[in-house]
Amino acid sequence: NKKVVLRRYVTGYPTAEDMEVVVASGVPLRAPRGSTGAVVVKNLYLSCDPWMRWRMTKHDDGEAVPAEDFVLGEALVNYTVGEVVDSTHPEFTAGELVWGMSAWEEYTLITHTEGLFKINHPDLPLSYYTGVLGMTGLTAYVGLFEVGKPKRGESVFVSAAAGAVGQVVGQLAKIAGCYVVGSAGSDEKVNLLKNKMGFDDAFNYKEEKDIDAALRRCLPHGIDVYFDSVGGATLDAALLRMRTGGRVVVCGMISQYNLPEHQGVRNLSCLIPKRVRMEGFSVMDHYRLYARFEDEMAGFIKNGSVYVAEDVVRGIEMAPEALVGLFSGRNVGKQLVAIA
Ligand code: NDP
Repeated sequence: NKKVVLRRYVTGYPTAEDMEVVVASGVPLRAPRGSTGAVVVKNLYLSCDPWMRWRMTKHDDGEAVPAEDFVLGEALVNYTVGEVVDSTHPEFTAGELVWGMSAWEEYTLITHTEGLFKINHPDLPLSYYTGVLGMTGLTAYVGLFEVGKPKRGESVFVSAAAGAVGQVVGQLAKIAGCYVVGSAGSDEKVNLLKNKMGFDDAFNYKEEKDIDAALRRCLPHGIDVYFDSVGGATLDAALLRMRTGGRVVVCGMISQYNLPEHQGVRNLSCLIPKRVRMEGFSVMDHYRLYARFEDEMAGFIKNGSVYVAEDVVRGIEMAPEALVGLFSGRNVGKQLVAIA
């Protein structure tokens, strides 16, 4: 059973060498008899997600973290898409396709099945359940509609717009009748946003550098909803451009995850005169909406209203490189690893 394990806890930017692929003896092919809620999943696709970085650091007891630190030498825990190969759980049977919380290894014995979902649209590419039909798609959906609450005709700005969450946010905002602008870190990504994903405008923040000037040009009347995945300088620039009654959806702050100290945001006082609501959220609180989301999103993909960009690497050996690539923007679209 090949697995990706953490070799050492990380400070600063993670490298592929912080992880290693090991071959563990013994493949768990059967759920222990006598257990009543266990399944064995053969993992087919591994999802690469920025939050894994949090779990690569050793945190002090009592620190506010979204999940426990990874255990050195054990397979990294994260979302996968897979096939059930054995089950003692009444609701899962061998041969079924599932996605959810599993581990970065070939076969995983799952005893807590609350985070496991059946795949109801197997006619779409299975890999979509690592992204647009999985956790990151749901993040975009609930962040935009439950927190951002965009109205028809409003202006929406999305950062990390060509990534897994951002591409879905922008396309859903277009479906909701908004004017949508994205920022991304390369011309290739900007072209994708404008030419394939229907964004009204987009800019390359690495090339432009003056994000305030780019926002003034692309959104001269300001921003009603800022969907923030990056924090830092982009958040600061967007705060200056918020319209009265605007909403800042705090989804992620990837520009800060590898810094020893988080950079202060200077323009928070803009929230006061503009009556702006800034709100963080966790997708974990919204899984009750998953069934509705899955059907709606599958419909949008099938009728062509949502384009899906994926960055697929092949082989479990490639997983560490793929994961660290998220922090330099190497990925174009949802980063995933096909392992079987
Ligand atoms: P992406 O697919 O968007 O990949 C990460 C992207 O972030 C990179 O491609 C890169 O794009 C951009 N990036 C990396 N470093 C920086 C930096 N220093 N400054 C600006 N941009 C940077 O990842 P996801 O879509 O999976 O995740 C997006 C965000 O959503 C993350 O912050 C993540 O933590 C958050 N998230 C939050 C959830 C929640 O429940 N609140 C759930 C899931 C994700 P580029 O080339 O454009 O720089």
